[in-house]
Amino acid sequence: MSERRLDEAFALAYESFEPREEGLREALTSTGNGYFCTRGTAEWQDADGVHYPGTYAHGVYNRETTVMGGRPVLNEDLVNLPNWLVLKLRIEGDDAIGLDNVELLEYRHEYDIRYALLSRTLRFRDRAGRETSVCSRRFVSMAHHHQAAIEWVITPENWSGRMEVVTAIDGRVTNRGVTRYAELEGRHLDPVSPRTFGPEVIALKVQTRQSKLYVAQAARTIVLRGDEPVDVQRSLFQTEDYIQQVVACDARAGDPLRVEKMVAFYTSRDRALSEPLGNAGESAGRYPGFVEALERHKRAWEELWRACDMRLPGNDRVQLVLRFHISHVLQVCSRYTADRDAGVPARGLNGEAYRGHVFWDELYVYPFLNFRLPDITRALLMYRFRRLGQARAAARDAGYAGAMYPWQSGSDGKEETQVVHLNPLSGRWEPDLSHNQRHVNAAIFYNIWSYYEVTEDLDFLREYGAEMMLEIARFWASIASFNPDRDRYEIHGVMGPDEFHEKYPDAAEGGLRNNAYTNVMVAWIAQTAREVLTLLPESRREALSARLGLTDEEIARWDEMSRKMFVPFHDDGIISQFEGYEKLAELDWDAYRAKHDRIQRLDRILRAEGDDPDRYMLAKQADTVMLFYLFSEGQLRHLFERLGYEFGPETARKNIAYYDARTSHGSTLSFITHAAVLAALDPESSWDRFIVALESDIGDVQGGTTQEGIHLGVMSGTLDLIQRGYIGSDIRDGVLHFSPRLTERLDGLSFPMQFRGTPIRVTLADGGLTVAVHPERFSLPIRVAVGDEVRELRAGDQHTFALTATTSVTQ
Ligand code: BGC
Repeated sequence: MSERRLDEAFALAYESFEPREEGLREALTSTGNGYFCTRGTAEWQDADGVHYPGTYAHGVYNRETTVMGGRPVLNEDLVNLPNWLVLKLRIEGDDAIGLDNVELLEYRHEYDIRYALLSRTLRFRDRAGRETSVCSRRFVSMAHHHQAAIEWVITPENWSGRMEVVTAIDGRVTNRGVTRYAELEGRHLDPVSPRTFGPEVIALKVQTRQSKLYVAQAARTIVLRGDEPVDVQRSLFQTEDYIQQVVACDARAGDPLRVEKMVAFYTSRDRALSEPLGNAGESAGRYPGFVEALERHKRAWEELWRACDMRLPGNDRVQLVLRFHISHVLQVCSRYTADRDAGVPARGLNGEAYRGHVFWDELYVYPFLNFRLPDITRALLMYRFRRLGQARAAARDAGYAGAMYPWQSGSDGKEETQVVHLNPLSGRWEPDLSHNQRHVNAAIFYNIWSYYEVTEDLDFLREYGAEMMLEIARFWASIASFNPDRDRYEIHGVMGPDEFHEKYPDAAEGGLRNNAYTNVMVAWIAQTAREVLTLLPESRREALSARLGLTDEEIARWDEMSRKMFVPFHDDGIISQFEGYEKLAELDWDAYRAKHDRIQRLDRILRAEGDDPDRYMLAKQADTVMLFYLFSEGQLRHLFERLGYEFGPETARKNIAYYDARTSHGSTLSFITHAAVLAALDPESSWDRFIVALESDIGDVQGGTTQEGIHLGVMSGTLDLIQRGYIGSDIRDGVLHFSPRLTERLDGLSFPMQFRGTPIRVTLADGGLTVAVHPERFSLPIRVAVGDEVRELRAGDQHTFALTATTSVTQ
């Protein structure tokens, strides 16, 4: 048995095999490099009710129609790609080893957070009484994005004899990872061809059925004793969608053999490509061995950690999970992602929930990247820019101007939100009106602006960002209507982030009137869009305005909207989530809590009871509260006062408490938002929610959702909570401000950031906050502040701000 135990500070380890947990563990221990990702399924397992091998690559989508009761339903899915993992062990011609046909003597499944390295170690006794250990390690290379590798060390403990390893690439896979979608078409691949490249390399090419993308994988499998290749016998079997080699050799008791499977992965969406199968075969043939490839992979990860690590000595669990989240964010969003036309799939690249679609969750993902790897945000924003044409067409088709981005986006930027949704509690398909979440357009605008504020990347703003922002502003101006009775602009027919309210009770039409979150965002957008215009060089402003046909009247209307958007309030001064919210019924929360173990998905519970969530004052997730999350109190006061509404010292506290009591947190994103807004108001409660968010995927708090894919927004959101919620970073007038909170709990916290191209390290220790600028020759001076103390720092400078009760909120 190998004693290659991991450094505990970086290990997620499971010491026994638990069939009911395996799906979750597969998602949590997935390995990926921002180009493709593979679930942590054991190499010897095919898909069944317990195991689900899944490989996904950014942008490899396919549309299929399912006929449901005579009604065609079209869905676009991120496609489960051929399974390159397959390795099976046969001893003396017996059946391949599986956990169900041996006596397991030892088992360990580990994920090395530092290197996204997966290992499984098992010792077993087979039916013939032979004892064997197998130590498996694998990774998807961060050094070479087409490359993945598996190593097995097989030690016969009490036997000698003939051993066969079956190595395969299996293209017979379908999308079957989410039980709720079982009735929907899951076949997305057509076979193209298997082939070999010399004696050691097998390869397979498939094609997506509708989008006609080619995907090719090749694998070179060899057996070694120490570093010496072993003479093996090889036999080949292939069909149009499957290829395998059986590699056979003699094994001796106590003498470990190493099997290496070096894999190449290509798609026809790649750059620097001739043809995927040829390129994959050639690459697999010339890859170095496992050990060298692993070294390179580790060095690439170490470089990433230098830019992205967050150190929190003194709280081992929080430290571990923060790093675990960093490792998952980077598995999905890396420099390789920046090189392709990719968006941010809400559930990462290791499960099929939400079909790999891109939502507004980017809002929670970018803040971490902006301050560390801004090139990645820039490239992910380009995903939206390239889909501006679709967004314009969607706005036009709906009778609006500008650009209306879809709630769910996939390959080409069309609306991908499903029209029906299966309620697993009732077993009924229910209409899905969630496409009315037009607020995704506010999030995209906000994301571009935040990226610009952190990086000052005027090139991006000039060439791409401004055009998207102006078109989004235009869309809002056209969906808003002026109500002369109120002398205010209103927006009807939309939904806020709270998906429990799709319409007014008993209304035939979807959507609500004047969602406060949306309307305030629009007021801010209307004001900021004008500022964007002033930031552009005059020639660019003129050219862009001419091309877009932007008129002075439109710009004047934006100005008016920034002063006259309608915001609904209850009589007692609470901001109404939408107009008429206060007339809905109060829910008996205690009764539901008593009756159900989990009430996060109250919508499903109520509908299964024949009731309707639209009738009640409840929210799935932060909606109005989002305002306090996205804007500082000062910014909000300014926004509300400009609109002619009062914003008092108690507005934040009162509204947050009001909605907190009426939110089920059915999306774990909601814990992030509430933890952030409570950081200054109620640090203890904030920390409790931070811990829930932190543990939500690793502990599967929603009971079954994580196995369908990690929640990328939440993982990244916990990292942003540290940086924005707790260290209180906030950019105002080009100055990076910090207002640390929970300083005792976070004592020793230290992490790198990058502000406007300048790398810095921020450390909270001994009652002070130190900002150190990297002694980098090219660093530009930056201004940082705590409270009223503003400092300009240059390359090599560092300054410690003393934290007093007024500059920080301790607990
Ligand atoms: C949430 C949305 C989110 C989506 C994808 C839903 O459950 O309500 O806000 O965008 O999941 O993560």
